[in-house]
Amino acid sequence: MNKADCIFCKIIAGVIPSTKIYENDKVLGFKDLSPHAAKHLLFIHKRHTTNVNQLTETDPQQLTDLFRAMREYTKDSKMDQEGFRIVTNEGSFGGQTVFHTHFHLLGGEPLGRFGK
Ligand code: 5GP
Ligand code: ZN
Repeated sequence: MNKADCIFCKIIAGVIPSTKIYENDKVLGFKDLSPHAAKHLLFIHKRHTTNVNQLTETDPQQLTDLFRAMREYTKDSKMDQEGFRIVTNEGSFGGQTVFHTHFHLLGGEPLGRFGK
């Protein structure tokens, strides 16, 4: 299911350009436009869901697809040797701004604590 008004579905379709760093038949990884760390990547499933709760309710296999992709990427890029952080934001208090479920993969330098 692609949503015509979803910017990440447009990135999957190639209508909006992105710097791709990982792709398989189910998952796309690309660089975040406004990085918050030396390495800041976004991993999305090619099948649109709105947020991680909706994804888990409707198509939980996507979680495995996404985490497998991030494992492959972090191993192949050797990011796993120094470590990394995976984050997903949901809703207003979570700070979600794009409503296509995505996981932020952050690293490339020591990261600060997070929260407020
Ligand atoms: P959220 O705030 O929803 O957790 O994360 C959305 C992320 O998408 C933000 O970090 C933002 O910088 C990134 N983003 C928004 N629009 C674009 C875009 O058109 N291209 C790319 N590569 N990243 C985007
Ligand atoms: Zn979408």
